[in-house]
Amino acid sequence: MFQDKNIPNTPISDIGEFELIKKITQPFKIDQKNTIVGIGDDCSVLEFKNNQILVSSDTLVEGVHFDLGYVPLKHLGYKSVMVNLSDIYAMNGVASQILVSIAISNRFSIESIQEIYNGIKTACENYKIDLIGGDTTSSTSGLIISITVIGHAKKNQITLRNGAKPNDLLIVTGDLGAAYMGLQVLEREKAVFKVNPQSQPDLSQYSYCIGRQLKPEARKDISSVLSDSKIIPTSMIDISDGLSSEIIHLSNASKVSFILYEDKIPIDSEVIKTCEEFKINSSIAALNGGEDYELLFTINQKDFKKIKNNPSFSVIGHATNDINENYMISGLGEKIKLEAQGWNSTKKSN
Ligand code: ADP
Ligand code: MG
Repeated sequence: MFQDKNIPNTPISDIGEFELIKKITQPFKIDQKNTIVGIGDDCSVLEFKNNQILVSSDTLVEGVHFDLGYVPLKHLGYKSVMVNLSDIYAMNGVASQILVSIAISNRFSIESIQEIYNGIKTACENYKIDLIGGDTTSSTSGLIISITVIGHAKKNQITLRNGAKPNDLLIVTGDLGAAYMGLQVLEREKAVFKVNPQSQPDLSQYSYCIGRQLKPEARKDISSVLSDSKIIPTSMIDISDGLSSEIIHLSNASKVSFILYEDKIPIDSEVIKTCEEFKINSSIAALNGGEDYELLFTINQKDFKKIKNNPSFSVIGHATNDINENYMISGLGEKIKLEAQGWNSTKKSN
């Protein structure tokens, strides 16, 4: 495991579960006015007045979703919050509270759990989220982190996957493929490290990709950009599994199809360079890689002028009135059928 030799390694059995919970949750402060009761009772109490409530959870399992060989614990805590917030932002909502449940084996020290919570705390501070509870239990094998996020939105602002109409524009935020390439670099370095533990690689030329893999940011900013521009997307989803499978999700839910233009997919120059080195087609990294945590949404064409100058958005295609006929027009003008090859952790052996 990623171990900082300067940090003590106190076994959890020294203090027991209740003291551990106290230690890890004490640094958190409540600052949302809709949190009435936080940690410490049998339930937390929330009050949302006129909003509808959004709830979602995601679980990260050691060896399936993360590898402690190269993921620092603090980043793991941060990322597990981001993965959850992203689902609320994908509904055009405001995220406000999380519950964090962890299963830990005796391999973990008090300090290592505190490291995870340091990352969770940084995420809560950056995104104005209250930690309002969770659960702590033991695991006989790896580490499991399960987070439930709570958010809210006005009824008429909530954006589902099912509202895209033919001719709507398909838009993506940020750029794609970097988190996947970051993972390729980290996996390669892990293999090198196994052979030569003294190796001290210079990874600075991959810093954007590695940053996007280890410390992704959820797109909290987008819902306010959209509401300032007076746009309610017709459908929306976050990109956790790769562009291709998310397009197919919108297509199936909305009963439309999409034409995607390969040339329009936003890809950072570092990703293109890294793809060349790894002999991976950069469009494939964007289409089938995962964990970008960008937002993919559709808008009515008449709204295009409101956002066309915003660098956060790329129009990458449009909806058609076909059913299950999702295509990409390649840079060479070929028509390629999109398939749901989303990153599937249950199939992939890590
Ligand atoms: P209970 O017996 O009701 O399950 P616990 O002793 O498990 O209570 O938890 C005590 C309080 O600490 C509760 O408010 C619970 O939500 C919170 N809590 C427990 N574990 C965690 C954790 N890993 N992270 C955050 N809050 C936690
Ligand atoms: Mg409990």
